[in-house]
Amino acid sequence: MTQAPSLSGARMLLKRLRNVMARGGAAQLRLDQTVKLIAAEMVAEVCSIYLLRAGEVLELFATEGLKKEAVHKTRLRVGEGLVGDIASHARPLALADAQHHPQFAYRPETGEEIFQSLMGVPILRAGRVIGVLVIQNRTRRQYSEEEIETLETVAMVLAELAAGGELVSQEELRPGDGIALLPLRLDGVTFCPGLAKGVAVLHQATLQLQQLVAEDPEREAERLTGALEELHSSIDQLLDAGDLGQGEHFEVLETYRLFAQDQGWRSRMLEAVQSGLTAEAAVQKVQNDTRARMRDVTDPYLRERLSDLDDLANRLLRHLLGADAPGARRLPEEAIVVARSMGPAELLDYDRTRLKGLVLEEGSQNAHVAIVARALDIPVIGRCADLMQKVGEGDPLVIDGDNEQLFIRPADDILQTFAESMRQRVMKRAAFAALRDLPAVTLDGVKVDLNINAGLLMDVPQIAATGAAGIGLYRTEIPFMISHEYPEVARQTEIYRKVLDGAGDRPVVFRTLDIGSDKVLPYWNRAPEENPAMGWRAIRIALDRPAMLRQQLRAMLNAADGRRLQVMFPMVTEIAEFDSCRRLLEREVARRKAAGLALPEPLLLGAMVEVPALLWQLPELVARVDFLSVGSNDLQQFLFAADRDNPAAAGRYDTLAPAMLRALAEVARVANAAGKPVGLCGEMAGDPIAAMALLCLGYRALSMSPPRVLPMRAAIRNLNFGRLMAYWQAVRHLDGATLRGALLDYALDHNVPL
Ligand code: PEP
Ligand code: MG
Repeated sequence: MTQAPSLSGARMLLKRLRNVMARGGAAQLRLDQTVKLIAAEMVAEVCSIYLLRAGEVLELFATEGLKKEAVHKTRLRVGEGLVGDIASHARPLALADAQHHPQFAYRPETGEEIFQSLMGVPILRAGRVIGVLVIQNRTRRQYSEEEIETLETVAMVLAELAAGGELVSQEELRPGDGIALLPLRLDGVTFCPGLAKGVAVLHQATLQLQQLVAEDPEREAERLTGALEELHSSIDQLLDAGDLGQGEHFEVLETYRLFAQDQGWRSRMLEAVQSGLTAEAAVQKVQNDTRARMRDVTDPYLRERLSDLDDLANRLLRHLLGADAPGARRLPEEAIVVARSMGPAELLDYDRTRLKGLVLEEGSQNAHVAIVARALDIPVIGRCADLMQKVGEGDPLVIDGDNEQLFIRPADDILQTFAESMRQRVMKRAAFAALRDLPAVTLDGVKVDLNINAGLLMDVPQIAATGAAGIGLYRTEIPFMISHEYPEVARQTEIYRKVLDGAGDRPVVFRTLDIGSDKVLPYWNRAPEENPAMGWRAIRIALDRPAMLRQQLRAMLNAADGRRLQVMFPMVTEIAEFDSCRRLLEREVARRKAAGLALPEPLLLGAMVEVPALLWQLPELVARVDFLSVGSNDLQQFLFAADRDNPAAAGRYDTLAPAMLRALAEVARVANAAGKPVGLCGEMAGDPIAAMALLCLGYRALSMSPPRVLPMRAAIRNLNFGRLMAYWQAVRHLDGATLRGALLDYALDHNVPL
């Protein structure tokens, strides 16, 4: 009769294991002693260790109880047999009658036919399976939960021995997908275009744990509790730091804090400590288990929670080890950061002189980190499935943002092609740069204002670098998003002043906060919304929390200090909303006046046209505003009812489809008739083909991401507007289809650079 090892038995086993590990000698020898020891302690006739080799093959590395000749001979593919099944699902298996299991794969060389029951657990490292640990019994044995736990704990210690590089080379242990050392290509979605070459730097790379088995569980429990306390108070500090506004920002970071205080998490870690692991190893084990359990979860909400848990576990480990944040480490000369997902501030932690690109497993085009990366002008590819499993630290990578691809360990031909593309790009850039000081005017004299969209102070020098007319859209929410706390009036004033100073005599359009939707403030914990893009966002929040908008307007007035000020309100849906925003501004102006402070000259007020409801209120709107700016990103998503962040929906409808063109035509017609300047600041403004359509519709001001300005200037300077307009008149009624094809033909026929 076999019996489960008690808790102290598990501890004893770990202790003995530690002695084996500490003895030194060849890793293979230690592995052989380990299986003997585990078999004896777990009262099993067999204990075997399989390790993953290149090509997704699990090789028997050591065994007690099976035939020794089978060692290094028996190989199973991941997914093959019970051992392969444990590896492919990254979960334990305990079977009293293993031989009759449909997955059982008989290997005569092992002599395992006499063993009826089997229990195996994955050997995990950093959430990845690197092997399988198995015990077998001759009789039908029901393995208990506790025994599974014990074997998992042992597997964790073995993971470190296996990862040491002596048994299987580090190269082979790198994550792969059946061709671990061969080049791989992953498709993703380009968040920021461009090319980059460098070596992989894994964000939140696994911290190296030196000590896994503990002498004194009580002390480890104390260390863990102490570190948890530190973690809680550091989160509390974040929560309580600074002025969180008018008391509206209660429950900031609350979800995160609740996770940190989760009793289940704590007790799972304490349990692992009781079984003989060090505090660090316990944190890692619980994190490994959670990751493995959630491996196949695709629900975006749960995946977000998983990254919260990953983040917490890493923070806790850093508290235990006294380690720095991942972005603080020294980078290789050309680094490409690889992450599952990342916050915008985390990206800024990295040394910008060495950071050449970013690859994300998740994320979206408009994710904050993508916005920051665009400001840094580094190529970003996101939504690369299984990225973290396929890239290892130090892997050479090439990002091809133009073709939405990532090359892992690229072969020579790819590297050569890459070098050639890079060379051409540098030449093209030089040619564009020569255009910087030339006006954006068509061959027949139509002048177009090319502005930049900005959101960070570091964007502002792009005005000079591109020769832009000014900032057509300053997204004020970006500084709010990357800040750890709500910026007070003084802080906001300082930011806006620097923007105005940096722009000099070029105009800047400040858009008031457009938070909500995908733009979340880290310190503002809002109730989740079913449809945040159509929910409580932008001026809807501002009008419900007028103090916030007033503070922002006050900061803008302070910053302008008598200079020109242009303010624009996002997501205006009804005329009354614009009126209410204006009244709030007037109150701030009156307040300044009463204080004898300088008033902006001129003070211009605009509205964004991005909610289709406004299309039927244009006459009333233009009567009130000083200028209009079309937010085509939102206008398009609402017009087509197609989520801009969802590639399955967003890519379906073209910006040059008739519905969109008619809406755009109407806005320009009404604004131009009233003599009110009208521009467009969505993504389409940076696309030369779309810009050709916009010129024909009557737009003369475009605002785009900075890297688009020089190519756009080149396109405009090669256009004859009169001829384009004649062509437009002929094709614009093409039945029901997008005009993109027709305009592309024109551009190609007339040497318009694209
Ligand atoms: C838009 O909606 O087109 C726009 C410019 O604003 P944002 O992308 O910030 O929503
Ligand atoms: Mg918008």
